[in-house]
Amino acid sequence: MHTGIDRIREIPGAGRNLLLFAALVAGLVLFPACAARRPAPKQSFLAMGTLGSVSLPASEAGRLAEATAIVTNVLRDLEERCSVYRPESELSGLNARAGQAPVAVSRELRELLVLAKAYGDLSAGAFDVSVGPLMKLWGFNQNQPPTRPLTPGQVRPFLDKIGYRHIILSNDTAFLDQVGVQVDLGGIAKGYAVDRCCAELLKHGFSNALVNLGGNMRALGAPGTSGAPGTPAQDLAWQIAVRHPFAPGQSLGKLSLSNGQAVATSGDYERFVTLDGRRYAHIMDPRTGFPVRGMAGITVLAPTAVDADALSTTLFVLGIPEGLKILQQKPGCAALFVPDRQPLEIRVTAAFAEQFRPDPEVAGRVGRLEQ
Ligand code: ADP
Ligand code: MG
Repeated sequence: MHTGIDRIREIPGAGRNLLLFAALVAGLVLFPACAARRPAPKQSFLAMGTLGSVSLPASEAGRLAEATAIVTNVLRDLEERCSVYRPESELSGLNARAGQAPVAVSRELRELLVLAKAYGDLSAGAFDVSVGPLMKLWGFNQNQPPTRPLTPGQVRPFLDKIGYRHIILSNDTAFLDQVGVQVDLGGIAKGYAVDRCCAELLKHGFSNALVNLGGNMRALGAPGTSGAPGTPAQDLAWQIAVRHPFAPGQSLGKLSLSNGQAVATSGDYERFVTLDGRRYAHIMDPRTGFPVRGMAGITVLAPTAVDADALSTTLFVLGIPEGLKILQQKPGCAALFVPDRQPLEIRVTAAFAEQFRPDPEVAGRVGRLEQ
């Protein structure tokens, strides 16, 4: 349908090398805007338990090491504060003192908790960072999964420990006001981190870059340097491929990001446990205590990476009709939904459609959502 699509089809090429494969697993994959002519220089790294990368325009290749150092420093610092996997992190300290005493928190962790609570309010509790006990119960975060799917009766006692309102913040402390409450920032921290990386890059004079952390991405400027007439479209905006939730290594299409825009994907294909032959994904419905079913993948376009990250998790819990109501309250946010059923359906909001070009193989499966 559109010319130029063929070039996009080369991009995924799963297995070409480990890092590219890992980027695909992360949900979204950056492809060089001008694959045939001038690949955007890109440096990959591991951070916050996932694969990340920084890309710059070809003309700034000489500064890639500097940009990477800026980004990885920001990420290392945030991981030390906010990881549930690190017993010495500020967040682990907060969880350890639940029901006992407030703990001193850094500006960054406090800011994350403020944002997380705001998403809890916006979504009437569908987004709730106090899902820690449920993650453990269902065998995520390096815990042993149950041998059989749990029953509502087995899950119910844990619901007492869930509720972001148990997070009490003062100017420089945080307190979990009930024993057993456990915060897990996995649904928001990577997006927040990408925003911090972009702010730091801008401070150091990088006005054109693309930062990716496990499929949470934000664009600064564009990959090409010129807006002169005749500049190829691929140079005018950073472009990313949206992963096909049912077909690893394939994409659904490509999305153009304008200056400052961010995108994130939540999927059921990345982290899950299989119990009695059924797949249970790592996103919890805090209202029932059960892993959410019904959605295969959600991609959110937003003005900040923290918005995209928290909203993708929120919409995964809420599904399409309720999710659209949330989007209406967030200016500049748009989404692509893939329900977990066959045949493939790709449902996009009008604003998402404006920036999205489906691959020819799936173009017939795209439907607009009224919003
Ligand atoms: P990923 O971390 O793989 O990019 P998401 O951004 O969708 O995926 O976040 C999923 C993570 O969010 C889970 O691993 C868990 O840490 C956390 N989480 C799970 N359910 C919820 C929820 N209902 N609200 C907020 N965070 C959640
Ligand atoms: Mg998320």
